Amino acid sequence: MRSGATFDVLVVGSGAAGLAAAVSAERGGALVGLATKTTLQACNSAKAQGGIQAAFGEDDSPEIHAQDVMRSSHDTANPRLVGVLTSEAPSAIHWLEELGVEFTRSNGGYRLARCGGATRHRLLQVGDRTGHAITKALRESYEAGGGVELPHHALRALAPEDGGWTASFETKEGPVDIETTTVVLAAGGRCFAEAETLGELSTNHPNATGEVTRIALHAGAEARDLDALQYHPNGGAWPTTMQGYSIPETTRAYGAVLRNADGEEFTDSLGARDAVSAAIVAEVEKGKGVLTPDGRPAVWLDTTRIAPEDAEISLPYMLRRYRAGGIDPLAEPILTYPVLHYQNGGLVIDPNAETTLEGVYACGEIAGGTHGRNRMMGNSLLECCVFGRRAGRAAAERARA
Ligand SMILES: Cc1cc2nc3c(=O)[nH]c(=O)nc-3n(C[C@H](O)[C@H](O)[C@H](O)COP(=O)(O)OP(=O)(O)OC[C@H]3O[C@@H](n4cnc5c(N)ncnc54)[C@H](O)[C@@H]3O)c2cc1C
Repeated sequence: MRSGATFDVLVVGSGAAGLAAAVSAERGGALVGLATKTTLQACNSAKAQGGIQAAFGEDDSPEIHAQDVMRSSHDTANPRLVGVLTSEAPSAIHWLEELGVEFTRSNGGYRLARCGGATRHRLLQVGDRTGHAITKALRESYEAGGGVELPHHALRALAPEDGGWTASFETKEGPVDIETTTVVLAAGGRCFAEAETLGELSTNHPNATGEVTRIALHAGAEARDLDALQYHPNGGAWPTTMQGYSIPETTRAYGAVLRNADGEEFTDSLGARDAVSAAIVAEVEKGKGVLTPDGRPAVWLDTTRIAPEDAEISLPYMLRRYRAGGIDPLAEPILTYPVLHYQNGGLVIDPNAETTLEGVYACGEIAGGTHGRNRMMGNSLLECCVFGRRAGRAAAERARA
């Protein structure tokens, strides 16, 4: 076993949460290591298209945002975490702008869409590559600082050691132990692995396999709602190149509606995610679904109702992908069915993102409580930034104390 470097703060995972934590810890004066399973670019966060929520509308407020989160979670979310999430959302957006993210604007302000479960227009977007823009800005900011990058470091174990932690990794050169005063776990969820086990499609990156949650549980951390997995209502069902693709929920925000085999609207297309997914599955079970050419269940998403100018500004990537597959969503409806997407639950954290283990922090999809058992779209990227920033700051402060 080789012995690696020693850090004040060791961040595990290079999605939006890990990058936000690493940038924030580095700015807090800590010696930071950023370890990740493969490349720094590989993560779910970069695949996020739809957007990020923050209450900027004149008729909106962090309190209304919080009410929407609590209602969508069926009152299972932790209100303290929700309060932090929604009250710090506007400042998280300004922080991302300082780092170089350019949110789409119209009429002198942000272009805000209304997403499923929301009572206000609150979703900021960067076209339909929001996650890519956010991770790129965070990564470039980290790379410009003094932090150390540790690609191809897959965490295998975590153990307490002399008032800090020893993290054991598998690397291309063999096993390595790294000592650190504090750890930030930001290794995302497990929906890629879960879908493989179930023989289903998933929207997730192949690195979303969940072993870091198991490592934390083995080290004694507590978790909640781990059984609550979320289906994205609109997985692509046809053509085959779009199977497992998450059709941005902004299609529905900009007017697309769900229709059954008879062309009837059968649900509120802007309902909460679990309600919309359940309605699609129920419609198919009633025999009112449509079969894809390769025999998969589906319903129609009538994207022809989206105004072409909205699509050009907010859905260019989706349009390009479908058109490359021979279907123009503005000229014909597309086939969709729910697809495994997100781990709602995770490690128990406090408002500073500290887990039940001293000196171990968790942020992003690996953490639980902020969304309860049912997340609203656009709140995951937000959670990554708000709690990633908090985790990095708190981990640096503790390490330097
Ligand atoms: C297709 C898609 C579209 C989405 N759209 C939106 C959206 O529009 N808005 C929104 O808010 N959310 C969206 N989401 C959800 C959101 O993007 C993710 O939940 C969120 O970005 C997770 O961020 P994260 O940093 O916690 O994890 P990830 O981005 O998944 O990053 C996890 C990191 O941990 C690393 N890792 C994993 N295991 C190990 C290990 N053993 N050792 C070391 N490193 C490890 C991975 O390689 C990766 O770098 C979408 C998700 C997907 C998949």
